[in-house]
Amino acid sequence: MTFDYAPAPESRAVVDIAPSYGLFVDGEFAPASDGKVFKTVSPSSEEVLSEVAQASGDDVDRAVKAARKAFEKWSALPGAERAKYLFRIARIIQERSRELAVLESLDNGKPIRESRDADLPLVAAHFFYYAGWADKLDHAGYGPNPRPLGVAGQVIPWNFPLLMLAWKIAPALATGNTVVLKPAETTPLSALFFADICRQAGLPKGVVNILTGDGSTGAALVAHPDVNKVAFTGSTGVGKAIARTVAGTDKKVTLELGGKAANIVFDDAPIDQAVEGIVNGIFFNQGHVCCAGSRLLVQESVQDELLDALKRRMQTLRVGDPLDKNTDIGAINSAEQLARITALVDAGEAEGAERWAPACELPTSGYWFAPTLFTGVTQAHRIAREEIFGPVLSVLTFRTPEEAVAKANNTPYGLSAGIWTEKGSRILWMANKLRAGVIWSNTFNKFDPASPFGGYKESGYGREGGRHGLEAYLNV
Ligand code: NAD
Repeated sequence: MTFDYAPAPESRAVVDIAPSYGLFVDGEFAPASDGKVFKTVSPSSEEVLSEVAQASGDDVDRAVKAARKAFEKWSALPGAERAKYLFRIARIIQERSRELAVLESLDNGKPIRESRDADLPLVAAHFFYYAGWADKLDHAGYGPNPRPLGVAGQVIPWNFPLLMLAWKIAPALATGNTVVLKPAETTPLSALFFADICRQAGLPKGVVNILTGDGSTGAALVAHPDVNKVAFTGSTGVGKAIARTVAGTDKKVTLELGGKAANIVFDDAPIDQAVEGIVNGIFFNQGHVCCAGSRLLVQESVQDELLDALKRRMQTLRVGDPLDKNTDIGAINSAEQLARITALVDAGEAEGAERWAPACELPTSGYWFAPTLFTGVTQAHRIAREEIFGPVLSVLTFRTPEEAVAKANNTPYGLSAGIWTEKGSRILWMANKLRAGVIWSNTFNKFDPASPFGGYKESGYGREGGRHGLEAYLNV
């Protein structure tokens, strides 16, 4: 069915962005101790959205002290009391979801349809889900009175700013920990709005502290001697540096890192459904997704049929203004990320793979990349091995299920995989052979707060989501 009715772009006016923001420490916004600031820019227009404080080592110390002080009372509250705050936060997120969705699309570049229909509902769902656990921990099989770890230092990336915050903060608070969180430097705004939501919910001072800053702020937070638990989501390189920092300390750590997932299509898969899953797998959020299905493994016998259908579908993708409700692919998050994508795509061509993209007109300001397909890819090519983190799909082929498994596992990563086949027994066989933390069958990029998420190998360790996500914040 087609509609010729085109909805109006989402109104930017629903969000009121201040010209500057301080750090959120001990329930108050304040400038950085040394007065340093940095600008946050909208990647779709290059417009400066706001100036935010750049937290120094002294600010990290102040925030950790505030979190430590708050920990005594927060951890002593009955779970049912902590639940009330989390439910309140979840409801405020729902009430303010339009404003937050527009904010996220402006600061990150993602299409409003995704921030509105995927990010924000999942953010609220995480707070509801963990609110529901807060008063049940005594009866969850962990033994009586499982203890929180203390102060959690949390560092998150820019691809799902508010959702990554929810994955980190909701389980930490439900279990009685307090938090110092550092958002990514290109997307600091939604975390600062979340700080405001904490105040609106009446959350006691110091339970949540938000420090904006760059990698140096993150490094100081992770290394702070009074941080008991480190939770990091980001690149494998930084994850390894963090693992080295915490080695030899008593800090607990969870790392959610990069990926190079295989989306595996067998010849009995319904082609149209598989095409939708492939498109969702790699073009959702501009491909800035750790579990993106960035390698398509297609059974040789259906390669031509599938690629024809995929190209036809890619021709219908609309790239442009993130606030336009028709947009499928928004802006690339930063000039640096665009340069990284471009360099890897150039390497793909130089190494002999065949590049294809539908004709599409890209906006003249901002950072953009057309949805791109590479065929003739071998396992040795960089585009088959390295995480591109952009809207670029590398196609490889296989003949047998064994070959599909071998190729899918031939990566240092192991975050996710997708299997498309009508055969249930084959799905189970494959799922047991694939070395990946999340396996989807006949779907892709489905998330649920009750489901643990995390990787094998260089995709990191520990799980977020579900009851496993609680254990990362408890001494059980
Ligand atoms: P990044 O590692 O460059 O940065 C992530 C965060 O770490 C940012 O807040 C950054 O300021 C901070 N940081 C940088 N250097 C640091 C240091 N030395 N010590 C402490 N903190 C430091 O990653 P990115 O480019 O923001 O995000 C993209 C990466 O994140 C991709 O590799 C992607 O796969 C991964 N990711 C993984 C998951 C997952 O759940 N596994 C989810 C989203 C993104």
